[in-house]
Amino acid sequence: MNEEWFRALPFGEQRRLFASGLLALPFWLKTTLNKEAEIAVPDFNCLITYSHQSIPTAMFEEILRAGFEPLTLREIVAHNRGEEIIPADINHVLFTFDDGFATQGVRLERYLQGLNSQRQTAGLKPVRPIVFVSLGFGQPQIPRLDLTRVDGNTPSFQDGSTNKYLTLTEILHLVRSNEVDIQSHGLTHSSLAAIPAQQARLEVVESRRRLDMVYGLVGVPHDLSVFAYPYGQISEQDLVAATYDLAFGTKETINSLLQTHRQRFNMPRVPDWSYLSNQTVRNFILTANQRQKEPDVGRPRFGWRRMW
Ligand SMILES: [Zn+2]
Repeated sequence: MNEEWFRALPFGEQRRLFASGLLALPFWLKTTLNKEAEIAVPDFNCLITYSHQSIPTAMFEEILRAGFEPLTLREIVAHNRGEEIIPADINHVLFTFDDGFATQGVRLERYLQGLNSQRQTAGLKPVRPIVFVSLGFGQPQIPRLDLTRVDGNTPSFQDGSTNKYLTLTEILHLVRSNEVDIQSHGLTHSSLAAIPAQQARLEVVESRRRLDMVYGLVGVPHDLSVFAYPYGQISEQDLVAATYDLAFGTKETINSLLQTHRQRFNMPRVPDWSYLSNQTVRNFILTANQRQKEPDVGRPRFGWRRMW
C-alpha cells in the first residue's frame, strides 16, 4: 500500500471502508498484481541487432565506437531474474545472429577473437553475440533425439537451397570457443503461428532439450536458455515462457529502451545494415546519445509496485 496516498484520504471511516474494499478485491486480481510486482525490473537502454549470413563488422565497430557497451545474454537474464541490475544511464548493445549459417562458425569466431583481444588490451568489455540455431539435425520429428548418435557432419538445418548451415561438430566447436552464446531457433524454422499446436510444442520444447544436450556434450555449464521466434512471428508465448528465460522477436522500429519486464518474451530486435539503411542505424546512435544527455532519462523505471 502506498501509505502517503492512503493518509491523504479525508476521513477515518472512509479510509477504513476503502481498505476493506481493497481486501475484497478478488484473490486472482491480487495474485496477478503481486506477480507483476515480483517480476518488475528496471528498464535499460539496449540496442539489439540481428544479422544473417553476413557479419556486418563495420556496423558493429561504429556502434562500439559510439560508446555502446556490449551486454551479454547472461547479464540480461540475471537482470530479469533480479540478481543484478544493468545500469540505466548508459547505452548498451547486444548483437545476435539468426539461423546458424555456416558463416556464423569459424569466420565469426575469428572476427570476435581479433576484436576482443583488441578490446581486452584497451581495457574494454568483450563482445559476445548470440547465435540462434534451428536444431532439427535432419530429424526434427524425433521427440528425444540422442545427439551422440547423430553424425557430426549433419547440418543443424537444411532448407533445400544452396545455403550452408552449421553442422553439429561446428556448433560443439563454437560452444567450446566460448566467444558466443548458442541458443534456440526451433527445429525446422517454422513459424509457430502457422503449424499445429502439437508441432509447435515440439519446436519449442524439443529444441530446448537439444540445446541443453549440446552444452552437456561439451561439458559447459548451461543454466539459461532463450528462444528466437522464426520469422519473428510471436506465437505460443505461454509455452515459450514456460520453457525459456527470454524470447526474441524482430521489430522494424528503433526502440532503445527495453521494457524488459513487459517484453521478456518479445524482446525487440533491429535488423542490421544489410536490411536497414546505414542512416537509420546512425540516427539511432544519435538519438540514444541524446537521451543519455537528458537528466531525466536513464533513471530506472519500474512496473507495478507491490500493493499489499
Ligand atoms: Zn530465422
